[in-house]
Amino acid sequence: MFQASNIGHENADTHHADVLVVGAGLAGLYILYSLRQRGLTARAFEAASDVGGTWYWNRYPGARVDVDSVQYSYNFSDELIREWVWTEKFASQSELLRYINHVADRFDLRRDIRFNTRVTSAVFDENANLWSLKTDQGDIATGSYCIMATGSLSAPFKPNLPGLESFGGDCYQTATWPHEEVKLSGKRIGIIGTGSTGIQAIPVLAEQAKHLTVFQRTAQYTTPARNKPITVEEQREFNSCHAEYYNKVRHTFSGVTGFPIPTKCLHEDTPEERLAYFEKRWKEGGMLQSMLGTYTDININAKANEIVANFVRDKIHETVNDPEVAALLAPSKDLPIGSKRLPIDTDYYETYNRKNVTLVDVRRDPIEHITPTGLKTGSAEYNFDILIFATGFDAMTGALLAIDIRTESGARLQDLWSQGPDSYLGLMVAGLPNFFIINGPGSPSVKSNMIITIEHHTDWIMDLLDYVSVKGFDRIEATKQAQNDWVEHAREVAEATLMPIADSWYVGANIPGKKRVYMPYFGGFDRYCKTCDEIVADGYRGFTLSRLKKTKNSSNFAAE
Ligand code: NAP
Repeated sequence: MFQASNIGHENADTHHADVLVVGAGLAGLYILYSLRQRGLTARAFEAASDVGGTWYWNRYPGARVDVDSVQYSYNFSDELIREWVWTEKFASQSELLRYINHVADRFDLRRDIRFNTRVTSAVFDENANLWSLKTDQGDIATGSYCIMATGSLSAPFKPNLPGLESFGGDCYQTATWPHEEVKLSGKRIGIIGTGSTGIQAIPVLAEQAKHLTVFQRTAQYTTPARNKPITVEEQREFNSCHAEYYNKVRHTFSGVTGFPIPTKCLHEDTPEERLAYFEKRWKEGGMLQSMLGTYTDININAKANEIVANFVRDKIHETVNDPEVAALLAPSKDLPIGSKRLPIDTDYYETYNRKNVTLVDVRRDPIEHITPTGLKTGSAEYNFDILIFATGFDAMTGALLAIDIRTESGARLQDLWSQGPDSYLGLMVAGLPNFFIINGPGSPSVKSNMIITIEHHTDWIMDLLDYVSVKGFDRIEATKQAQNDWVEHAREVAEATLMPIADSWYVGANIPGKKRVYMPYFGGFDRYCKTCDEIVADGYRGFTLSRLKKTKNSSNFAAE
């Protein structure tokens, strides 16, 4: 049967493993490592030609992590922790990719991965209790369990602008930036998009371009990264307290430590006190939480939020020489700070003081179409040699829904998620047995330090696989009731905050037609971990664990 399906694909492969894994980024690699530790066999598929996920694809100028590198590192191996030394507080994409390659080599993980291979479907046969993956290379792989490590921000989105095919210059998308060097120097460059990606790329592009035109639809808040080199001694010092760090980080809201945890509401301080505090934190810069983590109520109290937002607006006006440009860069009053992901930057606002940079407000003057030489808005025409799309992703669900995921009896992920991406803990979807998601919608994932949630989810799934194996079960399914309760809890938690207000990718507002749902869990990583632990202590509450047996009168198998 397998061979017949493979016809037409010379290098097609058939494979059976205990566990199938989709994706070989930070999550996929740790899953492979963990499975091997348990003596379980694995087969992973990866669309890219090598490991790295996000850091394989996003090679655009200026790409770097926005969580401290020492905390954006795996924690599972003491040797790995000891031997790797980061060179910068916020590592560049190339350094991150070197690290990930080092991990893949060190633990010999590539041998379980089939590269240049995109999974097209995943189908569960209830009778055989097997997932079966098909790929665009004609491969077929079967396994008892399937784990999706497909990433939260891995399905790039490019708006369908008329005339794009007529553009005579070079066109790039940040999320699929070429591996070869792109010659930017002396070029007229246009860039669409001012999210975290655009905000990282724009200052670097401006240094090289003859002229850079930035097309901004929504002004974003950003705060200074204050990136700096890390010395070997600093890394050693961090490593020497690693156990303490790891224990502490699991009790944090965002999976990150190293900044003062807020203890007061904003209005407990006088205006002078908070201004002094904001200034201090602005100067320190650094991690994402530098402004949002100043007081306890910034994410929940509109008035407190506005005071922080105004502080950043004032900084924009202080930094940008041209008051009209500063006004365009200052986010509107109805956008709470933090409700779109808050980027950190290096000289973003300063870049608009350069003579070779123009900011165009495409909310007021929308892009009409792409021309052979550039782009036309309602009232003006712009010419460039290079056009760059920094227009984001179909976040959290895009990569999963691109795969035809279903059971043979007819449950399809596309249908199950037609009203929003319901899940239990972000880990499983009711109706899809033995199928797990890492950093799925409903998990803290993108509101946390991703590598910390990757390790948490993977460890949690591995413990569950151990548990079912010991108990003699072989089928795991989230109950609909537990899923409904979790979805409701996640919705309540998000709606008690200012987070769902913005038209962000968190709510799917950037994708035409996508159902508006606040997708990540915003109850905190600490609370999430506690809930997961309690569920285990209650004998995996909300999961149905069962085992297949042959029924007396039939050759079919049934779960009991
Ligand atoms: P994004 O935040 O969704 O930003 C996309 C940008 O493109 C927005 O400015 C958006 O405008 C604009 N845009 C989209 N369609 C447009 C159109 N038709 N016309 C004009 N403008 C358009 O995407 P991103 O910047 O790639 O960032 C996504 C996420 O990736 C981040 O929030 C972050 O979580 C992650 N990221 C992390 C890092 C890091 O760790 N250092 C770096 C980069 C990205 P609107 O705002 O008006 O929609």
